[in-house]
Amino acid sequence: MVAQLPQVKKFFYRRFGFAQVSNVVWVKCVSCSCEDTKVIDSRVSEEGSSIRRRRSCLKCGYRFTTYERLEEVPLYVVKRTGEKQLFDRAKIISGLQSAAKGRPVEDSVLIEIAERVEDDMRLTGNDVTSNQVGHAVLNQLRSIDEVTYMRFASVYKNFDAAADFKRELALLEKEARN
Ligand SMILES: [Zn+2]
Repeated sequence: MVAQLPQVKKFFYRRFGFAQVSNVVWVKCVSCSCEDTKVIDSRVSEEGSSIRRRRSCLKCGYRFTTYERLEEVPLYVVKRTGEKQLFDRAKIISGLQSAAKGRPVEDSVLIEIAERVEDDMRLTGNDVTSNQVGHAVLNQLRSIDEVTYMRFASVYKNFDAAADFKRELALLEKEARN
């Protein structure tokens, strides 16, 4: 996982001395650049916007302090037209809500799906395609509710139309038989 994000990590190391994507944090030893460090002590700042951590390098024993600030790497969704938009979790949630209308699916489940998809996408890279987002949502939905799944698949505009839809349908039918 670490190897998939060299650019993000480099950027963050340079700017903040630590790298963070979603909930994953990497820290390099200030002295020897080793990535195996241990947190000795953590303290949240008074205003709650940063965390001060006292760390110790597992290789050379050097002790140093990092200040972690909550800052997200922007995640972009590239549409098929080439247009780039910031990833919008709320948009996914509202799409899921209309697909789940009248179905016995809790809002909290839909919110969780959107969060999980965002996490997956952030681990994929800084730019993802709308197709990747659509597939990730459908992957999560498949085991939740069949009707919601089919509705979402059919209204998902950037979903690669007929071919993908048929394949998804076949998959679903296969799973239903098992
Ligand atoms: Zn070290």
